[in-house]
Amino acid sequence: MSVPILDIIDLHAAYGRIEVLRGVNLTVPKGAVVALLGPNGAGKSTLLKVISGQMQQTSGDIHLAGIHVTGAKPDDLARLGLTTIPEGRSVFPNLTVEENLLLMSYAGVAPEAVFDTAYSYFPRLHERRFQLAGTMSGGEQQMLAMARALASDPALLLLDELSMGLAPLIVDELYETVAKIAETGVSILVVEQFARTALRVSDYAAVMTGGTVVATGEPDEINAIMADVILGGAA
Ligand code: ATP
Repeated sequence: MSVPILDIIDLHAAYGRIEVLRGVNLTVPKGAVVALLGPNGAGKSTLLKVISGQMQQTSGDIHLAGIHVTGAKPDDLARLGLTTIPEGRSVFPNLTVEENLLLMSYAGVAPEAVFDTAYSYFPRLHERRFQLAGTMSGGEQQMLAMARALASDPALLLLDELSMGLAPLIVDELYETVAKIAETGVSILVVEQFARTALRVSDYAAVMTGGTVVATGEPDEINAIMADVILGGAA
């Protein structure tokens, strides 16, 4: 078996004295889409913060493509191919779509290449290229956030709550794009509270409650046990 793109071993993290991650184990195989599911407060966003170097763990190990990266800074992780789309999208509202994309070309990527990738995945962004990002719908802003992330040519994409606040149709559309991105070889870890759409495009899923991963498996298996795991874990 090839080296996984992400391997997390017995990871612990805390806010002050309150431990929020309590021994997380999680593996993302190369080229796979993994859905990380679980209820409010399970620790999913905290886990993404630690993986992406925005928060320090108290113990445990993280390997990215076989490299030990525990404690590495966000910039170093980015150079190793890790890109995060945080909850809330993170586009610049007072810049146009095109200006938002152009900001990504600072890293030495030609603007044409950034535009080509963005507009081939999201034709709607081309139609709206001169519109201020802050005036677009939530779904369109999520497309822009994804397009910006793709410009960095990620090996592993971390997506936090892709579907938050969006209508089901647009969520389906975004997940179809997630599947297309995965077909190009990008590995993806997607965090969602509500499971169904994420499970449809995932190769594997993990369920987190109370700061640990309590179940992992193929989407069908996880779908079957989801309600029990969450209700049991929340008790
Ligand atoms: P959600 O789906 O609601 O985002 P989550 O699974 O992502 O939930 P986290 O946001 O990681 O969960 O939160 C895990 C726990 O850590 C919660 O109890 C939360 O209140 C707490 N927490 C999160 N951020 C902080 C913070 N900055 N300071 C203190 N506690 C925090």
